This record gives sequence, C-alpha cells and structure tokens, in this order.
Amino acid sequence: MPEAALLSADALSVRYGRSEALRPMSFQVTPGSLTLVLGPNGAGKTTLVKALAGAVLPQSGKVLLRGEDITWVPAHRRVRRGIALVPEGRGRLPGLSVNDNLVLGWNSASRDRRATRAEDFAAVLALFPVLAERLEQDCSTLSGGEMQMLAIARALLAKPDILLLDEPSLGLAPLAVARVYQALATLVANGLSMVLVEQKAVPLASPQESTIVLRNGRVIFQESRRPTREELAALYLGERAAR
Ligand code: ATP
Repeated sequence: MPEAALLSADALSVRYGRSEALRPMSFQVTPGSLTLVLGPNGAGKTTLVKALAGAVLPQSGKVLLRGEDITWVPAHRRVRRGIALVPEGRGRLPGLSVNDNLVLGWNSASRDRRATRAEDFAAVLALFPVLAERLEQDCSTLSGGEMQMLAIARALLAKPDILLLDEPSLGLAPLAVARVYQALATLVANGLSMVLVEQKAVPLASPQESTIVLRNGRVIFQESRRPTREELAALYLGERAAR
C-alpha cells in the first residue's frame, strides 16, 4: 500500500489577478521524502510553496496535511501544525539580533512540539555553529550564507515536520552554498520531509525523492527521479531545445 501523504496539493491553482501563476497541479509529500521543485524565473515555484505555507490563497484546489483539508488555515497556524517556510530572500529582519530571530522562530512553534528553549537552540546551533558566535550581532551584519543559515535555523525552531525552502542558494558564493547544503543533507538524513525550490539541479539527494519541473505555471515534468542535465536544459528551453 502506498505510504500516507504528509502534505498534498490536490488540483491546486493560484492566480494573481488575471495572471495564472500556477495551473492546477497535484502532488504528495510522503514522510521523510525530498521533493525538488525546479524551473526557470517566473515558473510559479515561489507561488507553489507560498500556497503550501498559506502565504497566498489558491484560486482552486486543496492543500491537505495528513489528509486534513488546510486550504483555508492561515499561515501562522500552519506553522504550529508543522509546516515551516524559509522564504526566498531569507526573510531578513534588520534591527534584530541573531538571537532575537531565533527566539521568534521558537515562539512560532506549538508548545507540544517544543523542548526547552535551551535544548532546541542547542540543536540548531550544533547544525550551524557559526550562528553561536554571532548571537548578539544584528542580523544585517551577517554574510549571505550566514543569513541563509539563520533563516533555516529560525524555521527549524518552529519544530516542523516539513520544511519548505525557496531557492536557498540564491545569490550565495559557492562555499556558502556548500555549507548550507551540508546542513540540509544532515536534515534529510535525519528524516525531515522537505520541499526544495531551486532554479537548477541541487547537490542534495535522498533515497525517497521526486522532482517537479514548472515552466510558465505548468508542470512539465513530475517523476520519482531527477531529470538528466540534458532533459532539464530541454525542459527549460521548451520545444525548440527538445528537438
Ligand atoms: P523566480 O525563480 O523568479 O522566483 P518563480 O518560479 O518562483 O520565479 P513566481 O514568483 O511564483 O515564480 O511567479 C510566477 C508568476 O506569477 C510570474 O509571472 C510572476 O511575475 C507572477 N507573480 C508573482 N507574484 C505576483 C504578485 N504578487 N502579483 C502579480 N503577479 C505575481
């Protein structure tokens, strides 16, 4: 029997006024799996993860969490129920220290998910030791890579069952990308379910993974394997390149 879905989209679509950002699409995230969402600029990737997180409302279709319809559940309640989003641009909160950012993340978790603050902080600081050295610094003084680590740490402090990440490598130097992905690999190995948006192939693998490729708001590839580099290039460029 197929494993029960943790999170699913059922014929989910989103419009912004007259623009159809996401055409009806369906997929399921099983516990402990990695779902890659790839596609060029403007494909609808951010729209999809925002719809899963409750940051935009769908035009039609449903979002289900463990089979329960959460389509109209607001974003902050979804966080309490185990869905955390690391937004594109890392959700900067200038003027707040690293520690304050982490406290905000911890406060967004439901009480029954949390251990003590010290224990939960220790777990994320073990994953991102550089943040432990920066706790009192204003977060705007962090490097891009450190800022991304902080955004992930803040989301993890909500104690999610599923982490949605929107282009975590965007604008980072190769070494910072490698560090961020090293931490994501640890999380995947520990069984955290993940929906990961990137524009191109990602340096992260899971025994249970699937890939969705979007272009112009449509699903153009959806399989429990990765497209090859050549397939991906053809998918991005469309018919012309596929010849
Ligand atoms: P990128 O890689 O550039 O972030 P994306 O695949 O995440 O792209 P989306 O940000 O989801 O794509 O955008 C999908 C489409 O919806 C694009 O055509 C975009 O211009 C449009 N769009 C996104 N946000 C809005 C909005 N708030 N109002 C109107 N149109 C929007």
